[in-house]
Amino acid sequence: MGPPGAGKGTQAERLIETYGISQISTGDMFRAAVKEQTPLGLEAQKYMDNGQLVPDAVTVGIVKERLAKEDCKKGFILDGFPRTTSQAVSLDAILRDLHITLNGVVNIVVSDDALIERTTGRQICRTCGATYHLSFKPTKKQGVCDKCGGELYQRDDDKMETVKKRLSVYAAQTKPLIDYYKNSNLYIEINGERDMEAVFNDIVERLGKSK
Ligand code: ADP
Ligand code: ADP
Ligand code: ZN
Repeated sequence: MGPPGAGKGTQAERLIETYGISQISTGDMFRAAVKEQTPLGLEAQKYMDNGQLVPDAVTVGIVKERLAKEDCKKGFILDGFPRTTSQAVSLDAILRDLHITLNGVVNIVVSDDALIERTTGRQICRTCGATYHLSFKPTKKQGVCDKCGGELYQRDDDKMETVKKRLSVYAAQTKPLIDYYKNSNLYIEINGERDMEAVFNDIVERLGKSK
């Protein structure tokens, strides 16, 4: 968990390599559907363009389908889901059905000023989806992905105006969800306002301690 730009995707990308597990990013799944202009993509786009959340029923549906896939048996990290208390309640039911328990709930905390800097400078590879930052994680060659040579682009919803909207949506709809987990022994709060390496090492250490 964490607000837009906290570093969820960046950390998830490294954690899946370290643990040999799958990354389930609802944002990535929606962006792929938008790119393909599937019925799901057309529906999701209406909300994403305005910085709003895609309705819970739609989001829970795609996560449920994804978690049932074979590769999730070796473990997974949910990135950007759940984002509402209702999604968390649905997730608990899905996990119960699949006989899966969570090992930890990581909340990455970053101040609004840093979040705006991070989101507005974020760059994504059109081909492989890798994430960079104009100042904090620049590519070797400007505008070109280090991993695959693909072209980089700025997400439509990373423009200043939409970022501000997303931060207010986060405060209203996602922040209350922290309380849902805070009192469980799963909850791990991470100071995300440090370099990527320090944040990563902290997450690995804290996950190691939580059973
Ligand atoms: P960020 O990583 O910057 O927080 P994401 O890629 O996770 O952004 O999400 C981008 C957009 O996709 C969100 O603004 C929202 O419209 C939609 N989205 C992603 N995950 C969810 C979710 N769990 N519930 C509802 N909408 C979601
Ligand atoms: P989220 O998935 O939470 O929206 P990302 O992982 O996409 O966030 O990170 C947002 C932007 O900030 C990206 O451009 C990323 O390269 C950059 N970033 C991520 N973590 C850090 C960090 N610890 N310090 C500086 N920049 C970071
Ligand atoms: Zn790439």
